[in-house]
Amino acid sequence: MEFSLSDSLSLEKSIVVVTQKVSCFFDLPVHPKASFFFHIPSFAFRFQSWNNLLALVDKLDINDAIGGPGGFPEFIDKTLALLTNSTTIKRTSLNIEFQYGESQVNTWIRSFLERGCLQLYLNAQSLYTIDTEFFTSNTLVELTITGGFSPDGLLPPGGVFFPKLKTLSLVLMTFVDSDMYELFISGCPLLEEFLLRNDEIEIPPVWNALVSSPSIKRLTIVHHFPNYREAHDGCWFRTPNLVYLDYSSYVPDWYEVDLGSLVEAGGYGDCDSVYDEEEYPDDPILGDVTNLVTGLSNIKTLHLSPDSLEVFYFCCKSMPVFHNLLTLSFESDQKRGWPVLPLLINKSPNLETLVIKGLVHQVTRRCGDACSCIPKRMKKKKKELGICCLSTCQVKVLHISGYQGTCRELKQMRHFLGNLKCLETVNVGVEMNHREDNDVDNKYFRITDALMKLPRVSSNCRIHFF
Ligand SMILES: [Zn+2]
Repeated sequence: MEFSLSDSLSLEKSIVVVTQKVSCFFDLPVHPKASFFFHIPSFAFRFQSWNNLLALVDKLDINDAIGGPGGFPEFIDKTLALLTNSTTIKRTSLNIEFQYGESQVNTWIRSFLERGCLQLYLNAQSLYTIDTEFFTSNTLVELTITGGFSPDGLLPPGGVFFPKLKTLSLVLMTFVDSDMYELFISGCPLLEEFLLRNDEIEIPPVWNALVSSPSIKRLTIVHHFPNYREAHDGCWFRTPNLVYLDYSSYVPDWYEVDLGSLVEAGGYGDCDSVYDEEEYPDDPILGDVTNLVTGLSNIKTLHLSPDSLEVFYFCCKSMPVFHNLLTLSFESDQKRGWPVLPLLINKSPNLETLVIKGLVHQVTRRCGDACSCIPKRMKKKKKELGICCLSTCQVKVLHISGYQGTCRELKQMRHFLGNLKCLETVNVGVEMNHREDNDVDNKYFRITDALMKLPRVSSNCRIHFF
């Protein structure tokens, strides 16, 4: 716990009580709804007077969202003045919903940075430009900018410099140029974790599809513009020390990747812009992820979205062998199929764990032998082609969530349990609708009982419910 006055008080109540007490004690302007939270190590209360406590403040959370704007700037100004000599503030957050003077807000930000804090979180509902002349810090380790904050005009090269920053998150920011996030990256020579989220249609794309950094280890890109493929036609990941990648975007025409020692990857593909085989069979297939998938071939854990299951099938010219892949997890959607699953399983000889969120997917003529929904007319043909991909699969753990016990789901489970020979543990998360089901207990029993009665090809297989 970061802060506690009394064991009987919740954390939130403790903060409110202390806010009021601190406000009164230091003759701060009364602004009961504006939040200005002081976080002080709890042990300090036993030994320190309030005066000394101020010198121990290590976390400031400033928030006007539940109050009005009146008096708030004065409240902040005076409080910051009282903390001028504080050297202990490690984390500062500024959440502002209302519009204040831009120079005033910049003065606050400058004040936070000059105090030598380690973590800074900036969020605004209104639009503010950050005065980049003072937007630097020799101590900051973690920086998050979200909402209406944006740099003041075009950043000059070197316009951002955070020599110790390790984690940078830019969420829904507006830039005048789609290269500007690169200046943030190049101004952070020790950056290890970078998140760029740009998925609101009102905000123009701020990502030009290039990430180049020798230091980044964890990278998250969310770029959702399925109907604006002009944003970029290729994508570069020059990140030789990357360990984790979470990437969601439409699929461009080509990829050039150096993913180094990538261990875990997830996300991928926005199939809305790629292909809808059922509704528009004559549409061209757009995008090519072949190079990206090749760059993933050494990973241990792969998470795929419903769209990705189709992107990996339709937009990948050759599938590498995933020798190190131990865990494959994916999510199903009623409007997306599982076409790539047999290929992925066959290309993952050391797969140990299969994690599936929801079994219900779209039945298409591409359904392979990993699922049980092959149309009757094709069953005979498939049988002639050879053994089921699951029969040679080494998976020991099958983890299913969102199981509702429909006939189709039960049929799929029969298919898994009847073919996965190495299965040891099956975890099933049964999803019940407590509002609609009058007899929840009985239904739960019927669902679990039906699963327990399924024949299992592996004699060591145990089924657990969660
Ligand atoms: Zn299927």
